[in-house]
Amino acid sequence: MICKNLVWSVLSASIAIASAASTASAADALSLQTRSRAPVDGADGQFKIVYKTVHWAPEKTAIIVCDMWARHWCDGACDRGSQLAPRMNRFVTEARKRGVLIVHAPSSGMKHYADHPARKRATDAPKAGNVPKGMGGWAGLLPHEKKEDWPIDQSDGGCDDQPKCPSRPMDVHQTAAIEILDEDAISDSGVECWNLFEQRGIDNVILLGVHTNMCVIGRPFGLRSMVRVGKNVLLVRDLTDTMYNSRSEPQVSHVRGTELIVEYIEKHVCPTIASTALLPGPAVRFKEDRRPHVAMIVSDDHYDADKTLPAFAQMLRERYGLHCTVHHGEGKSDFPAMDDLPDADVMVLFIRRLALPEKQLATVRKYLDSGKPLVGLRTASHAFDVKGNAPEGCAEWRDFDPQVLGGSYHGHGSNTTGTDVALVRGPGGHPIIDGIEPAKWHSKGSLYFAAPIDKAATLLMNGTSDGKTEPLTWTRSYKNARVFYSSLGHPDDFGQKPFRTMLVNALFWAMDRPVPEVN
Ligand SMILES: [Zn+2]
Repeated sequence: MICKNLVWSVLSASIAIASAASTASAADALSLQTRSRAPVDGADGQFKIVYKTVHWAPEKTAIIVCDMWARHWCDGACDRGSQLAPRMNRFVTEARKRGVLIVHAPSSGMKHYADHPARKRATDAPKAGNVPKGMGGWAGLLPHEKKEDWPIDQSDGGCDDQPKCPSRPMDVHQTAAIEILDEDAISDSGVECWNLFEQRGIDNVILLGVHTNMCVIGRPFGLRSMVRVGKNVLLVRDLTDTMYNSRSEPQVSHVRGTELIVEYIEKHVCPTIASTALLPGPAVRFKEDRRPHVAMIVSDDHYDADKTLPAFAQMLRERYGLHCTVHHGEGKSDFPAMDDLPDADVMVLFIRRLALPEKQLATVRKYLDSGKPLVGLRTASHAFDVKGNAPEGCAEWRDFDPQVLGGSYHGHGSNTTGTDVALVRGPGGHPIIDGIEPAKWHSKGSLYFAAPIDKAATLLMNGTSDGKTEPLTWTRSYKNARVFYSSLGHPDDFGQKPFRTMLVNALFWAMDRPVPEVN
């Protein structure tokens, strides 16, 4: 018995050590949810948004901090830089802790660092004999970019201030807000970076800094150059800024101008990540970004919400001027950017039977408790119900449907019959059904059985299938929050105009804002 216990305790100790070791390495590895845009087959000029998680070994990864100068000639650029720098510092601090090489690249500022150990690390790296041609200069367009249109006019230098900032000397030290440690490297040279990366076997390069449309993309150590020499390259999309004058074409806000450049990069240069990939707390939003924020929580189960909603979010950015974030679970019940949620003006929920990590579900509860609105689609009625099988550390919310949405989902009708949709109020009956034409249509989605719904709910649409009629779309209040729910949301619905009108109207109704006129 003693012997058996001893064996067991030795065994369990070794299991504990093994699991601690594997936990440590899993924690140290960089799991980065990337976003890119891929051409849609057969649809010229159209792109789909693609999310993918990559796992990079920290010791094979470098972060390059591009041109975070102490003083730029443009005041607006300086102000936005000072908003970015603290989170950049936290980002590189976390990455360094995990074993990533940090390269500080304040271009033209090398003379200030001549005696710095981090500068010597770059200059003393053994000269690699295989420096690719072109590493010494600015990178031109990648071959496939040559036929693409650049999304903004930056020909005036991109100062967004009025009056325009005068030309003045810059301070090309790196801003003191981003700490340089002796173990880092300092270089503004593509060749030195190449030598450093060869010495250390670095295959993966993450860029952050300014300005996305100039130095970040074009410097000898920039995105294009690193892509051209075969590195795996990522841009941190919320730790960058563009030189763009919002009075220049296409005359969008400064923050939208930066997004246009980020979207261009995601289409033609490399994927991006958000700083939430490594850090808790929300991604950076510039204080001048006053666009309403739509946060979408989506999963890819059953109805392709991970494809339909990112595309819808893109339409909302382009046509309605909204700031949209998409929280994508990638088949897991983990939404690492959930710390963005408190900033949201409306949450869109389209997930199915996921038990969230306790902290993330608490964030959802807190959001709703604060009186902020919710737009729930289709499987949102059983979003957090895993029938009592929540994994350890995760929590479910089985009564979410009756408590928050005001429904009582209990199954659905035939998948082949679809649903006949009908408005139950006439024109002027409710802002959400204003402008919806026609008043009846057919959805390919099966009918959800949702009755009975909350007596205080405002019913907007019914659905009928195989002779059975059910409440389909309604609004209600949860605590002080405006709640909209529709069991529509089949991928085919997103192609139907009345559904799209309904969803736009619902978002603006939830935020208590008028729907803007669009072309
Ligand atoms: Zn300026």
